Amino acid sequence: MGLLTPDYYYTDVAAVDLAALAERGITALLVDLDNTLMPRGTSEFPAEASAFARRVREAGMRACLVSNNWHGRVRTAADALGFDLVPRALKPLPSGFRRGLTLLGARPEEAAVIGDQVFTDILGGNACGLVTVLVLPLSSTDLPHTLLLRMLESRVLAGRTPTA
Ligand SMILES: [Mg+2]
Repeated sequence: MGLLTPDYYYTDVAAVDLAALAERGITALLVDLDNTLMPRGTSEFPAEASAFARRVREAGMRACLVSNNWHGRVRTAADALGFDLVPRALKPLPSGFRRGLTLLGARPEEAAVIGDQVFTDILGGNACGLVTVLVLPLSSTDLPHTLLLRMLESRVLAGRTPTA
């Protein structure tokens, strides 16, 4: 169960306590895009994503989008946020997270993963020795295999409630 357990669990990125992460030495964030910063299947850029990017900068942290997606949309989002980008990340495999660490010039112990999926973001992040932060998905729209995994996620997370 350890690899599937997030260190932190919040309702959304707005609730993520960056000061608490900074206190434990986190300076770099590897952030999921779909259903973490943007609802999947939408092209409109939510104000919450920009507000999060601003908070990251104000906290003196650097961030990189690490997305399994590869459409132009992820590049547009990374540019709009001022984040680095690892597309086609193949999460939960470690290679995408490692590329993100390299881009940010961070060591694993300085980095946290933020994402909405236990079996990609959290599993991969824990396997790489990163601090892991789970958020609730922005939309219930998702890929068919993801919706299947959501049913397993609810078992893994049984009894845990996100901090608002
Ligand atoms: Mg996601």
